[in-house]
This record gives sequence, C-alpha cells and structure tokens, in this order.
Amino acid sequence: MFPGSVRFHVGDVVVMKKPHPCGSSEWEITRTGIDFGLRCMGCGRRVMVPRTQFERQVRKVARYAVETSPGLREGPPPPRRQG
Ligand SMILES: [Zn+2]
Repeated sequence: MFPGSVRFHVGDVVVMKKPHPCGSSEWEITRTGIDFGLRCMGCGRRVMVPRTQFERQVRKVARYAVETSPGLREGPPPPRRQG
C-alpha cells in the first residue's frame, strides 16, 4: 500500500477500504499513537482502532492536514526539513 513508513497526522482525512454503513468512506484522524482515533466524515461517529489495523484498512490519504503557518498561503511548498 504505502512504501516505507507513512506518518499520519491529526486532521488528515483518509479513505478506508470499507465504507461506513452511513455511506462515507472518509475518516478524519483525531488521534495518533498506538491506537488511532477516527471520526467518520459522514455521520461523525468516533472509533478507536489499533495502528496496525488502521494501516491495513486505509486506502489513501484524501486530504492532508494543512499547517496554517502564516506566510505559507501561496507559492510552492516549502522544502522538506530533515528531522
Ligand atoms: Zn459514518
């Protein structure tokens, strides 16, 4: 699925392989760590899943959490910082 290790951040919206019964397959990450907290974008239901299970079920990241730093509203993305 993902090459190497992928870091997920609170606020990222991911698409899961199986849609929720409400019809939405997009989930917002509300917590990261050993367990991931997810909130359904369709109905708002919150669930907690182990990180290993989450990584197996996630299909892709639909929207990355945007850092709302001032001065970065336009232009190309800043270069990756090491560390
Ligand atoms: Zn739902």
